[in-house]
Amino acid sequence: MPELPEVETTVRGLRPVLEGQRLASVETRRPDMRTPFPPDLRQRLTGARVTGLGRRAKYGLIDTDRGDTCIFHLGMSGRWRIDPSEIGKHDHFVLETDAGRRLALNDPRRFGFVDLAPTVDLNSYPAFAAMGPEPLSEAFDGAYLAEVFRGRVAPVKALLLDQRVVAGLGNIYVCEALHMAGIAPNREAGRIARNRLDRLALAVKEVLLAAIEAGGSTLRDYARPDGNLGYFSKQFLVYGREGEACACGAAVRRRIDSGRSTFYCPRCQR
Ligand SMILES: [Zn+2]
Repeated sequence: MPELPEVETTVRGLRPVLEGQRLASVETRRPDMRTPFPPDLRQRLTGARVTGLGRRAKYGLIDTDRGDTCIFHLGMSGRWRIDPSEIGKHDHFVLETDAGRRLALNDPRRFGFVDLAPTVDLNSYPAFAAMGPEPLSEAFDGAYLAEVFRGRVAPVKALLLDQRVVAGLGNIYVCEALHMAGIAPNREAGRIARNRLDRLALAVKEVLLAAIEAGGSTLRDYARPDGNLGYFSKQFLVYGREGEACACGAAVRRRIDSGRSTFYCPRCQR
């Protein structure tokens, strides 16, 4: 499942192909993905110039000179194919630029979607309205965590996965960041010392940036019919490593809470 670093890598991969280009052709090849394509999507995007690309949480954003933002989500299995030699049955949304480049949003399981919103209204777009700050933004730091964790008895891991607290963090990177910060996943959020929250905020940024860097160096692989992006997994210190040795020598443990696996080191995470 694509996490924030994969979406960021995707946006960086699309940027050189799309930015500044006019969309010569826009095609939806079925009526819907997880949700229906907007009925006027084709009309609003065809002929528009792409003015910029960005990301909010796990959503990719394509801005046009008509004041629209095309929002895409990769769901469980979505990925963009750049200049595919042929269009297949899982390519649901196809863009062509006037420079002759072709992009296809491929999604066999169709949990992804494409939507369109006026760029000026993006902050009130339903998925974004109640969302917390971006983890890589300056607004996300130890002081911010101290403020939102104050008085909260919930486990720190649950709060980091809450999109209203911080946008776009998934299970893998939360496990990794807690390990890097030396904080036990079930630690009561409101009772973590401020200096440890500073470390936690830095750890979140560090694990995400390392993954984005790893993804960027394998950007070409993005065009492969893979979508699994397993190449990030080599760098995980605890995630998926139950029973293996942590750097401290203790064995990594796995616990299941509300259907999700939590990987942690019982010795260096307190
Ligand atoms: Zn350890």
